[in-house]
Order: sequence, then C-alpha cells, then structure tokens
Amino acid sequence: ELVNIKELFNYILDRFDMIINSDGTTEANPNKPDKDYRIERHFTKSDLWVEVDTDRFTQVIDNLMNNAIKYSPDGGVIVCSLYKTKNNVILSVRDQGLGIPRSSIPHIFDRFYRVDKARSRAQGGTGLGLAISKEVIQALGGRIWVESTENRGSTFYISLPYEPIEEDLWDED
Ligand code: ATP
Ligand code: MG
Repeated sequence: ELVNIKELFNYILDRFDMIINSDGTTEANPNKPDKDYRIERHFTKSDLWVEVDTDRFTQVIDNLMNNAIKYSPDGGVIVCSLYKTKNNVILSVRDQGLGIPRSSIPHIFDRFYRVDKARSRAQGGTGLGLAISKEVIQALGGRIWVESTENRGSTFYISLPYEPIEEDLWDED
C-alpha cells in the first residue's frame, strides 16, 4: 500500500524510545534491551509517500535497530535519517558500535552469516535478519547496503523507488 514513510519510521522509532524509557517492569518484552541508547532523528520536513507493506517494512527497521543496539556498547547514539533524492527515498540507521570487518561486509546479507559466531550466539538471534531484510527491500524494487568501519560503527542504508505524488509537490523542503 502507499504509506507515509516518515510517519511509519517515526512510529517504529517511538516504540524503541518507549522501551528504553519504560520503568523496567515490562519484563516480558523480548525486545527489551539491557542497554541504554539514544536515538537521533534527522528527517526531511516533507511527507514522503512510498509503496511498501507496513508489516514487512517494520520488520526490516526493527532488525536494523535491534542490530544497532545489540552490536553497540552501552550508551551509544543511533542516528536515523530520512531524505529523498530525485527518484529515491533514502533511510539510514547509523550506530557507534563494533563495526563489521572489511572481509565480512560482502557476506553480511547472507542467510545465517554472523561475524563472530561465539559472540553472536551469546547475543541470541539466528543470522537471518539481514537476509530477510534484503528480500523485503528487493521485492519493493529497492536496495539495502552497509558502510562500516571496525570499532567505529556501521551505517545501514535503504533506498526505495519514489515517485513524487501531487501532495508532496505542495511542500518543498
Ligand atoms: P537475527 O537478526 O536473526 O536475530 P543476527 O542479528 O545475528 O540475528 P543479522 O541481523 O542477519 O543476524 O546480522 C548478521 C550479522 O551481521 C550479525 O550476526 C553481526 O555479526 C553482523 N551485524 C549486523 N548488524 C550489525 C551492526 N549494526 N554492527 C555490527 N555488526 C552487525
Ligand atoms: Mg539481526
């Protein structure tokens, strides 16, 4: 369906803010991190309407956010951004975490691939998150990729095809 992607991205991130701001009594929440983090949002002013499946898109962002938290030290800042280029909407999630070794970057979207097997197993998960994310984004005609430096952090990017609709043309940035 045609979705207001800024509203949806905000809504997903609000949930991550609520998890961290809660009083800790929601112990049944499997997404509850035992880490502190802060989310920064750098979003374009205008609304952007994009063709996505809300549930599947949410699953992708959830995975990127959970990764950013899981593979970062306590107290990290996660910078999320949203902007448009001529034909695409670009979303990104940047962390200040462990980063990904250069030799692992080509494999990161493969099923079951995890950089450090011992470490990753201790963290929980299956190594499917990014493989599923790639399938979802490609099915939408988009792309997903990463830029990363070990011990500095990672930025995951999603680009989705975008056709401005009349409503968007009213409010230029
Ligand atoms: P799952 O998502 O299935 O719970 P997972 O997080 O290990 O498990 P993916 O999301 O597919 O699986 O990520 C694959 C691997 O890529 C991770 O195990 C980790 O080694 C590496 N990785 C992913 N995101 C990051 C990140 N933000 N920083 C550092 N390494 C990352
Ligand atoms: Mg994951």
